[in-house]
Amino acid sequence: MPITANNPNRKSWLEITSDSDFPIQNIPFGVFLTKENIVTVGTRLGDFAIDLGALQQLGYFEGIELTDDVFLQDTLNDFISDGKKTWRLVRNRIADIFDAENPALRDNKKHRDVVIFRMEDVEMQLPVFIGDYTDFYSSKEHATNVGKMFRDPENALLPNWLHIPVGYHGRSSTIVPSGIPVHRPMGQTMPADATAPVFGPSRLVDFELETAFITTDANIMGENIPVGEAEDYIFGMVLLNDWSARDIQKWEYVPLGPFLAKNFASSISPWIVTMDALEPFRCAQPKQEPTPLPYLQQTGDHAFDINLQVAITPENGDETVVCDSNMKYMYWTMSQQLAHHTINGCRINSGDMMGSGTISGPTENSFGSMLELTWGGKNPIQMKDGSERKFINDGDTVIMRGYCQNDKVRIGFGEVSSKLLPPIPTK
Ligand code: CA
Repeated sequence: MPITANNPNRKSWLEITSDSDFPIQNIPFGVFLTKENIVTVGTRLGDFAIDLGALQQLGYFEGIELTDDVFLQDTLNDFISDGKKTWRLVRNRIADIFDAENPALRDNKKHRDVVIFRMEDVEMQLPVFIGDYTDFYSSKEHATNVGKMFRDPENALLPNWLHIPVGYHGRSSTIVPSGIPVHRPMGQTMPADATAPVFGPSRLVDFELETAFITTDANIMGENIPVGEAEDYIFGMVLLNDWSARDIQKWEYVPLGPFLAKNFASSISPWIVTMDALEPFRCAQPKQEPTPLPYLQQTGDHAFDINLQVAITPENGDETVVCDSNMKYMYWTMSQQLAHHTINGCRINSGDMMGSGTISGPTENSFGSMLELTWGGKNPIQMKDGSERKFINDGDTVIMRGYCQNDKVRIGFGEVSSKLLPPIPTK
């Protein structure tokens, strides 16, 4: 079935500026709360939030097999469970409803009044109930940088790294949408000059620039998802700030990997951009040497050219951009990650979230964490207000943005923006 929603020549009757992340070719999915306290599944066009529940009740999805309440919910899980064919039909239909040439909704004020909201009048929620959250570690540059700093500069990559998309199971309970502030975590650390660990607020709170993909139900326990089919089970992507406390991490992570250094907060952008919308930005992944084992081998292009940016805004200060990276630098692809995740029969559910791992590029301004940008705090970053940052200060807002652009269309994620607050005192 063709992705007619991607037609780059299509224009909407809604006013959308040319630099918007959300042209009619995007049509992401999210969940929002209206001023009347109604939660609904929606999409976004320009600066308008569209109530898909209302559209369905008014009959605009006629002919597409959908349960009556699929959009009248506070998560996208049921819609995601409907599978790729339904996602595509609905996205194509939404493009048609808002096409400049289609008068049905355009010329019906009564319908428009219940379907269309201004973005400033809605509050974005978590788009899915995330049952399980897995975080990978798939940027070679990031793994090399961290390996050099935390372990051995001569053997920065562990022997398994070039053969396995390394990952760990995170916590979904503390994943929050953009706009929700995050508190500096308390914890146990071992200061460099100390002989015994100390307890207190983390002094080295960091961001991790990541993308994440959201899956649909894909397999039963015991079954794997072949790498060649994996993309069919990925609904779409969000931006992810995988907050990290480096001092807690350094002390606790041996031998089992990160634990409390990571699970105090993970922030995501609220609109899930579908893999269909990202299709025009598919590109080649880095060459994999040595060749991975057969279950991870794939042909064709499986990376995505997504520009990524991180900025820090101090309390009462101006924003400073600290990182420009791109998702295409990822060594392991999302389909390889999903194929590997299930090769032992691990079950994947609708709404599971898989983080890419920190995305660092080859140049120093493309490193995806303060740990790497300041090289463990050795090279502080100058902020526009004259202050310096080694890590994130209380009152700082960390903003991540992502977008794809070609000569015809721009498809973006909007942003994930979250402020770091002082710790909540321990009881
Ligand atoms: Ca991470």
